[in-house]
Amino acid sequence: MTLAPPSTAVVLFNGKDLSNWTQRNGDAAIWEVVDGVMTAGGGDIMTQERFTDFMLHLEFMTPNMPEATGQAKGNSGVFLQGRYEIQVLDSYGIEVPGKGDCGAIYNQFAPLVNACKPPLEWQTYDVIFRAARVDPSGQVAENARVTLLQNGVVIQNNTQLLGVTGGSANEDVGAPGPLLLQDHGNPVQYRNIWVAPLPLKGSDKY
Ligand code: MG
Repeated sequence: MTLAPPSTAVVLFNGKDLSNWTQRNGDAAIWEVVDGVMTAGGGDIMTQERFTDFMLHLEFMTPNMPEATGQAKGNSGVFLQGRYEIQVLDSYGIEVPGKGDCGAIYNQFAPLVNACKPPLEWQTYDVIFRAARVDPSGQVAENARVTLLQNGVVIQNNTQLLGVTGGSANEDVGAPGPLLLQDHGNPVQYRNIWVAPLPLKGSDKY
């Protein structure tokens, strides 16, 4: 699904440089940018901006690694708030994808169906994210929720997350967080990334 960003969107990747991104340690981001595309390499990167509830659009492409299998085949990941990984992997053709496959909430929830395209084809993720709600005592009152469309197909339907996934930047789920892209050692590519922040609730005007 090709979507024009809504007027409220924050364009996170301008296609030219990584000026709104850093490495995990805060240093300037060092992924390579060529022809409007960034390629994973050199460590995870994350946005400088922090988000709570939002809609996210991005496009990704896995490399062709015919000799590789499982988690070694085109692995990357999209960490919502730097805490919850939506897996990126070459899972093309797998009949029943699992909790480690592309579109999974990593190690928590498999995608409902396999909506993957082959490697070397651009794919889309459209995400609707509702952050966890934390009460004044610091207890989680409502878990974070994710709805995810891959290539226009619903593969996570208002999934209530069980908590942060492995590799989370932190466990402070009540705080805003960045968008973080994982470097898992494979040259996965990204382009056209934007986030439209959402109000935490609608008006109560009747
Ligand atoms: Mg990953």
